[in-house]
Amino acid sequence: MIRNRWNDNEAERLMGKAGPDEADRQLALRVYTSRLIGADRDLVLHGGGNTSCKVVRRDIFGRRIDVLHIKGSGWDLATIEAAGLPGVRLAPLRELRALEALSDEDMVNLQRAALLDSKAPNPSVETLLHAFLPHRFIDHTHASAMLALADLPDAETVVQEIFEGRVACVPFIMPGFELARVAADVYESNPDVEGLLLLKHGHFAFGDSARESYDRLIEQTAAAESWLARKTGAVPAPATGENVQWSARAAEILPMLRGHLGKCSAEHAGNPDQPMPVMDLRNGRNVQEFFARDDLALLATRGVPTPDHVIRTKNRPLYLTREILSGGRRAVEEAVNGYITRYKAYFDENNKRFGGAKKLLDPGPRLAWIEGVGIVGIGADARAAGAASDLAAQAIGVMVNAQAAGGYFPVDETRLFDMEYWSLEQAKLGKGTPPPMQGRVVMITGAAGAIGQATAQAFADLGADIFLIDRDSRALADAGKALDGFHRTLALDITAEGAAEAAMAACIRAFGGLDILISNAGAAWSGEMLTLPDETLRESFDLNFFAHRNFATAAARLLCEQGRGGQILFNVSKQAVNPGRGFGAYGIPKAATMFLLRQLALELGPKGVRVNGVNADRIRSGLLDDAFIAERARARGVSEESYMAGNLLRREVEARHVAAAFVALACSERTTAHVMTVDGGNIEAALR
Ligand SMILES: [Zn+2]
Repeated sequence: MIRNRWNDNEAERLMGKAGPDEADRQLALRVYTSRLIGADRDLVLHGGGNTSCKVVRRDIFGRRIDVLHIKGSGWDLATIEAAGLPGVRLAPLRELRALEALSDEDMVNLQRAALLDSKAPNPSVETLLHAFLPHRFIDHTHASAMLALADLPDAETVVQEIFEGRVACVPFIMPGFELARVAADVYESNPDVEGLLLLKHGHFAFGDSARESYDRLIEQTAAAESWLARKTGAVPAPATGENVQWSARAAEILPMLRGHLGKCSAEHAGNPDQPMPVMDLRNGRNVQEFFARDDLALLATRGVPTPDHVIRTKNRPLYLTREILSGGRRAVEEAVNGYITRYKAYFDENNKRFGGAKKLLDPGPRLAWIEGVGIVGIGADARAAGAASDLAAQAIGVMVNAQAAGGYFPVDETRLFDMEYWSLEQAKLGKGTPPPMQGRVVMITGAAGAIGQATAQAFADLGADIFLIDRDSRALADAGKALDGFHRTLALDITAEGAAEAAMAACIRAFGGLDILISNAGAAWSGEMLTLPDETLRESFDLNFFAHRNFATAAARLLCEQGRGGQILFNVSKQAVNPGRGFGAYGIPKAATMFLLRQLALELGPKGVRVNGVNADRIRSGLLDDAFIAERARARGVSEESYMAGNLLRREVEARHVAAAFVALACSERTTAHVMTVDGGNIEAALR
């Protein structure tokens, strides 16, 4: 149940911090309650909402002007700051109300032209609605309970029953000028209302102060929740789903599905190297209960609870029933193809109204309902997939409640098309060229070590989603914290039996599959061959050869299951070709690993899986720590610096240089069976 998070002391403190100017003090409260709203994820999931306040400021000539501070695009209410609520002159916005019609382009332009700061972000697409209402503070949200009401067939009767005239209903209209005008008309015909329910869209509450507006928003949302609970006998389901409970079927189905979606996406883009989408699986209790319903086939065609969802989940999920799943790969692929065919027909039909001016988006599903597995968000990267899952989890909660309270009837697909293909809505997804590794899932073993961390960061910098594995759970957690980029971690002894299979399953659970394995973990054992115990050599083989082999083969099976190529990269070693005295126990398994690399390249080439490696030498790391460097330098009678720079280039080689080599190999699309040396130059260790 929603609760009121207002705190007098905090509000006082923020007002005090804002200084003496009344407009700044009000804006500080606006930031405060915006954040309170943002703290309730269910209220404003993934940009589904906005807030505003009206203040009086002085212009450059000292004249008093009315200013609307409204949420700017790109800001999240949970973390918003004053800069995220750009000021717009109210008078020119209000003047627009007299117009009969206003194009979106003109609206956006006029809103920008009215900004106090020309560099501020674009004001929300719902700015005019905030401008046309008279209240000083306005809060707009998409709370699950309000959406369940908004999607009822008799929503107006129910709203009257719950709020007894304190909330009025606005018919469904696309956001923009027309909706703003109609909402203002509805308000003016009911000037005593404290909020508006936008049918099939969301909720507005308003008041004279930040506190009043926020109190009303929470109170109205809570009243909707209580009504639903009474009506349905259930507490509304949590919006974002619960923690994943693993299903073995997912390991089987997701990679196959991911591969086929990748293939379809590549065909649509006309680019054979188009990355596969990333997936986000949810199958907590509420999802499992949802799958027990007998009206799923119907609900799968009904649509999204608020039009905002459509750009991330599309109108319909790909619904894979047990029956389809029992037909294996072919049946799953046919279901995907059927989805795409239907989507294209929907596009063609609706595009006629625009004279064919719209351009088809990737026609593949962005959400799958998979019986016995869960709901699966699908996106260009893990963040997008997670957002789709969050919205899908909210959607099923709304569906369940609305169905129990009278029926789930969201906005129809024709009107939704206008939203899906609305340029202002698509702009929310961001423009420009995606980063080169977007959508690539990269697994790294030994991820907490120096080379592992540098490599993880190098791939994350290019937009990849990273799966970090290390035996040392504390070091792994630190590496995760230090990594700037989307990632998941798994603490695992990679030499344990079944470790590679467990790692692949965890990676599927996190991302739906795998693109690149960087088999990096290793450790050095030393000793002369004549006295080296078998036991030591076997231990070294376990880590420096068999773990590489097990991870590589498990990864290769997963990559083949996806059928879209992929890569395996090994951290070999200079020792594999140029033995160092006393390092036989390290070099011998590494030499075997280098041969493994070539063998796998040979066997996996026809599957499009590339296999390459890096031979690095003398990198500061767990293998070569400060004490060891000091000892080696002493043994050779040189300074530590010249020991570390003991190569042709006379420069120390760092972990980041090794990481750069992994990236270079990953990007070299026609290179396989190659070992790249990163040692600053050492003729004795040169491969060819
Ligand atoms: Zn909205």
